Amino acid sequence: MSEVALHAALSWTVLGLAVPTFLVLRFVSAPYGRHARAGWGPTLPSRIGWIAMEAVAFVGFALVFALGPGRADLVPVLLASMWLVHYGHRAFVFPFRLRASGKRIPLAIVAMGALFNTLNAYLNGRWLSAFGEYTVAWLRDPRFILGVTLFVTGFAINVWADQVLIRLRAPGESGYKIPRGGLYERVSCPNYLGELMEWTGFALACWSLPALAFAVYTAANLVPRALTHHAWYRQRFPDYPRERKAIVPFVL
Ligand code: NDP
Repeated sequence: MSEVALHAALSWTVLGLAVPTFLVLRFVSAPYGRHARAGWGPTLPSRIGWIAMEAVAFVGFALVFALGPGRADLVPVLLASMWLVHYGHRAFVFPFRLRASGKRIPLAIVAMGALFNTLNAYLNGRWLSAFGEYTVAWLRDPRFILGVTLFVTGFAINVWADQVLIRLRAPGESGYKIPRGGLYERVSCPNYLGELMEWTGFALACWSLPALAFAVYTAANLVPRALTHHAWYRQRFPDYPRERKAIVPFVL
């Protein structure tokens, strides 16, 4: 099998895996953060877990992208920058902002996250600098313009929303409060909404199978978690705002 055929088969596999992932996560919440529980094997400090899980998406993508013949072409470089800005922040800034004293994450979750991120980094990095074909005319295509706009807006929402949550805790605290203000008046998880907008925008801007697979897989991962978070808030806080939705304002 040629590498191009293998790459396509793996991209279809990620897309197909979105269905069982969604179904499983509707019944079993990933055991980290507020849903952490015993019985998932050895654990790591949360901060280390986040760095280990996400750094592979940054480093792996950068390496694969740098090996492709299109590594210096304008459009691939712009699309790659979107990925690297997101994962540079997720791997090397976000973990150091967390107020995660005493919090741990199962090694199994870190390993699964790192495995997925490695595969995803290969699929998207390889596409952008080797298998995709982008000319500078793509910069004027509405899919590119809309995709980049959606990505940038989603990134801003994601970083803002995570920061609101992080600031709910004083240093050393580990409990939960009701987040308020801005998009939090509409949904329980604007950070997940922002993340979903980012990868939907990236998929539009790349117009590729691996980017589409990643966006769909992200939805399969984050929509069930947002629904679980939302139900948890309602159960935990009797005064939780009734009009708030889980992840999509006015809808879901
Ligand atoms: P959460 O919203 O569960 O938590 C984010 C941080 O805020 C955690 O440190 C959490 O603490 C803290 N926190 C959350 N809610 C409250 C509250 N009500 N009161 C006080 N502190 C709170 O997000 P995740 O940890 O699941 O995800 C973190 C980031 O990673 C998000 O931006 C998300 O979009 C992204 N992500 C992306 C995925 C993808 O598929 N692309 C998959 C998973 C995450 P604690 O950990 O103690 O609960």
